[in-house]
Amino acid sequence: MSVRELVVLGTGSQVPTRTRNHNGYLLRWDGEGLLFDPGEGTQRQMLFAGVAASSITRICLSHFHGDHCLGVPGVVQRLSLDGVRHPVVAHYPASGAEYFARLRHASVFHETAELVESPVTEPGEIARGAFGRLVARRLSHPVESFGYQLVEPDTRRMLPDQLAALGVCGPAVGQLQRDGFVEVGGRRVELSAASEPRRGQRFAFVMDTRLCDGVFELAEHADLLVIESTFLSADAALATEYGHLTAAQAGRVAAECGVRKLVLSHFSQRYPAPEAFRAEAAGSFGGEIVVASDISRIAVPSRRPYRAAAG
Ligand SMILES: [Zn+2]
Repeated sequence: MSVRELVVLGTGSQVPTRTRNHNGYLLRWDGEGLLFDPGEGTQRQMLFAGVAASSITRICLSHFHGDHCLGVPGVVQRLSLDGVRHPVVAHYPASGAEYFARLRHASVFHETAELVESPVTEPGEIARGAFGRLVARRLSHPVESFGYQLVEPDTRRMLPDQLAALGVCGPAVGQLQRDGFVEVGGRRVELSAASEPRRGQRFAFVMDTRLCDGVFELAEHADLLVIESTFLSADAALATEYGHLTAAQAGRVAAECGVRKLVLSHFSQRYPAPEAFRAEAAGSFGGEIVVASDISRIAVPSRRPYRAAAG
């Protein structure tokens, strides 16, 4: 069985607290492991969470404030120490290339792992693979910040009973998938007769930002949305001033964008009781809300039925 889940490594903004490490999130998506915004201490949080460095295939940074990137040196060096054999791709805002260069070479180590830099220069598709499309959108923060969206295309699921009934077997199945039809015993069988639509899944990662178009574009129809909610509404003016969201705004985004599961994170250390974040988001979003805690696992919801919503 393929695994699709979010491993939460850290949930604190700005400074770690006794209960919250700096940010850090690993999205396990079949064979991919996308590490988002590894803040300071991420390497040790991975140990607690049972995540091996070898499970990382991509590193995606939203921006270069320390709580989103100070974990890069440890993680990068660990890749080599553990002898990771596959290349790891790093995405980050191109305007911060000098910071990434320093983080990557922060101290002396024997570099054997292959780290491929793929800086984000403008919004749009930044990678494509078996996982689907990885898309970046510009956010609104005092320094350049990008959010990320993983979009798996809709496909078709073959129906074994229908295939058997129609006499399609062996290499003819592949041909049917490839060409959209196949000739069997002098009859033409269409793909639609032996398969059904299969809804692709979507994941979105929205970190430090005010409300802006990019937030809504990223969150659109996300099965799982991880979004910052640094502040509560009482401090909405601070949120706007420093380029952040409130939990109420995050809930509104989720409601307007047809999100299925909402994960709130990146909490300011000023709030001791995280449940208030859930209550504010629930004011407008009726779906499932998770107030993220360190070292937790959040499943990507099961596939959306094909007719349930638009894509
Ligand atoms: Zn931050």
